[in-house]
Amino acid sequence: MKRARPATVSEGWEKAGSPLDIARIRQDFPILRQRVHGKPLVYLDNAATSQKPQCVIDAVRRYYEAENSNIHRGIHYLSERATAEYEETRAKVQRFLNASDSREIVFVRGTTEGINLVTQSYGRKFVKAGDEILITAMEHHSNIVPWQILCEQAGARLRVIPMNHDGELLLEEYERLLGGRTKLVAVAHVSNALGTVNPVKQIVELAHRRGVPVLLDGAQAAPHMAVDVQALDCDFYTFSGHKLFGPTGIGVLYGKAPHLEAMPPYQAGGDMISLVTFEKTHYNVLPYKFEAGTPHIAGGIGLGAAVDYVTGIGLEAIAAYERELLAYATQALSAIRGLKVIGTAKEKAAVLSFVLEGVHPHDIGTILDREGVAIRAGHHCAMPVMQRFGVPATARASFAFYNTKEEVDVLVRGVHKVLKVFR
Ligand SMILES: *Cc1c(COP(=O)(O)O)cnc(C)c1O
Repeated sequence: MKRARPATVSEGWEKAGSPLDIARIRQDFPILRQRVHGKPLVYLDNAATSQKPQCVIDAVRRYYEAENSNIHRGIHYLSERATAEYEETRAKVQRFLNASDSREIVFVRGTTEGINLVTQSYGRKFVKAGDEILITAMEHHSNIVPWQILCEQAGARLRVIPMNHDGELLLEEYERLLGGRTKLVAVAHVSNALGTVNPVKQIVELAHRRGVPVLLDGAQAAPHMAVDVQALDCDFYTFSGHKLFGPTGIGVLYGKAPHLEAMPPYQAGGDMISLVTFEKTHYNVLPYKFEAGTPHIAGGIGLGAAVDYVTGIGLEAIAAYERELLAYATQALSAIRGLKVIGTAKEKAAVLSFVLEGVHPHDIGTILDREGVAIRAGHHCAMPVMQRFGVPATARASFAFYNTKEEVDVLVRGVHKVLKVFR
């Protein structure tokens, strides 16, 4: 049967159908009802932070309204309830990552703190002068600078796995760099600047063959795909709550228990101890050894609600929907003359970085903002990536499952407006 050519690509796609009811999902996000400069908000800055569903907002509010108290020490009603709910999030995150033990789930402020914990605890203990740390050319500054500091402290050397012009890691180079001096490999699961999904399972396998542990920066992966730390067999995995539709100021470091057991505390204070005398202090058991001080209790409870929310939708369904959305957006934007997509790896997730000939990315961002479209323009905390591609900055649209093809159409029309202004 011959079908009429769809008027727009989006129409053709709509017929293909998606198992997600996006219109209904969007109702869960109050902020998306907003108008910006008189236009409906089109929020395409999800790689910077994601919006929060009502259930997360409610969970945080309920905690402050009805449960507020300190955890892990009170014997009164409120404290027991707050402790139970906070610890329930740990169990939820354990299932979310498929970790084998909830002791392997350490609450931190976010990805940045997760990485700093590993560099300053594991790194300070196990990395010595002459050792090498491997990272990649596409890391976020959070997965570069903490290692640089560690290398300076230890007299170790930071080495960088290069990538090709599509933004894919050169695995032969990686194998060549992996050597007897390599003490740890730290890699982004998904690049925030390029959208590349790295072959992390293979990266872990190659490192483990030489007995080298691997940390995965999951900040851009956890919100977009199912993560199974046992299947990946990674040694550390870290992500931020606020990019997973939860609150800011809370995140997760997963670590294999034997590593965490062998590591000294990262910070010292209350809650991370079992016995303190002025002569000697005994540290608490996992994971509390790494959780000094009163934590972000409301954030932890909000993160639990966010994990419930995304697992309720299903990470597989989210990944499938976003793959279509990204393909649609890539096709539509690539058709614009003078527009170049930065990051053209075969495996990508949720991020579309681009430059327009003759237009600074900040001007793209400013004009799009007048259209109600929120994107990011800049170096995306990945200056070495910009240097690699020879651009000062890019414009970046980044998606979540609540975004639609109609919003992509608004973005495309906005880019045409930019061109009108500049040509
Ligand atoms: C956002 C991001 C980080 C840092 O996360 P914070 O929440 O700011 O700590 C690290 N790595 C990647 C890939 C990111 O996208």
